[in-house]
Amino acid sequence: MKRRDLLKYMTITPVAGAAIVGGLSSASAASVASSVAARDLFSELGVRTFINAAGTYTAMTASLMRPETVEAIRQASHKFCMLDELQDKVGARLAEITHAEACVVTSGAFSALTLGMAGILTGTDPNKVRALPKLEGTGMKTEVICQKAHAIGYNQALTNTGVKIIMVETVEELKAAINKNTASMHFLHVQSDGGKIKHEEWVAIAKANGIPTSIDIAADVPPVSNLWRFNDMGFDFVAISGGKALRGPQSAGILMGKKDIIKAARLSMPPRGETIGRGMKVNKEEILGMLVAVEEFVKIDHDAEALFFLKRIERIKAAAESVAGVKTTITTPTLGNVTPTLGITFDSSVIKKTGEALRLELRNGTPSIETVGGKDNIGITAWMLQEGEDKIVAARLKEVLQGAL
Ligand SMILES: *Cc1c(COP(=O)(O)O)cnc(C)c1O
Repeated sequence: MKRRDLLKYMTITPVAGAAIVGGLSSASAASVASSVAARDLFSELGVRTFINAAGTYTAMTASLMRPETVEAIRQASHKFCMLDELQDKVGARLAEITHAEACVVTSGAFSALTLGMAGILTGTDPNKVRALPKLEGTGMKTEVICQKAHAIGYNQALTNTGVKIIMVETVEELKAAINKNTASMHFLHVQSDGGKIKHEEWVAIAKANGIPTSIDIAADVPPVSNLWRFNDMGFDFVAISGGKALRGPQSAGILMGKKDIIKAARLSMPPRGETIGRGMKVNKEEILGMLVAVEEFVKIDHDAEALFFLKRIERIKAAAESVAGVKTTITTPTLGNVTPTLGITFDSSVIKKTGEALRLELRNGTPSIETVGGKDNIGITAWMLQEGEDKIVAARLKEVLQGAL
């Protein structure tokens, strides 16, 4: 609301101070929205925006939320509610969709892993909750078993609780590693083809020994069925990113699993302080945004969407291939980041620039285009492209490739 309008409002509305404040905030929402809409904040700040032909990378802010999700966030921003009550009710809805006993919205898959781990370690003992990440002398267990092939940097999420990771390769090594200090057995879906022990056997051995299991499926939808597959399989907790293919808030994720673990994990979450999770806050906007993102994700026709992404990729592939010395392949990863992915390589006697140099040209062009790749190749996905951008990427790619002849 402009100052002039504000004065007019005040003269015709003789109400008490408190009421004026409430009235003004809603009356001015529309004009505030339009005055922000009139600004281009990215260019005001000199921040480069780009066409994302790379994928759901955190550094590139990963994904764009659907309009339904943004609307949920906008609605949430107008009201107060109790944080725990909202988590209870959103968690119950998400649990229904994911076949989990319980769910809670976390600040990303990473914090879902930390909080789920914390829940396993502490149970509902408030002294243990406060003690983390110190385990020594508390009676809490200290070891998490993981296959060597599943060891990635994101396991830091688990070790943040104070546990150490014990690596195994074979079933024999796994059975030998299990002892009275074993807190849990952790699995990484995206590298499940690398490990000798598969999901079902992992869960079965854990159950036979009374040990809880966890699984990281951060980037592993589609297929949409992965939202419930691992809960159905009997993993005690499952962690997924909200802001990758689910296109929820980038800062959100979901911890799903057994009721006792989720209940215990929440003791380490805001609004409670004095916990390792106090900094992993999610606000009501993200919680409702996450819910709506999942509801929309399960509604869409995933076969049609996969075909749509493939058509886009084929268009870009055809443009690249039309240039001499260019070789292309389309592959679709099966475990995570399941989307048609274009790989472009070159005959260096024909194409005189490196993949790296060409990617830089795409980045520095107008519009700027982000791709992935190494020194000698370019990688492109189409799932984060907006309407019409496949044509722009195809044309620009052809242009820079022709310029390298
Ligand atoms: C992206 C990713 C994470 C982290 O997820 P956030 O939602 O960004 O916290 C963890 N594990 C794997 C395998 C991932 O790909």
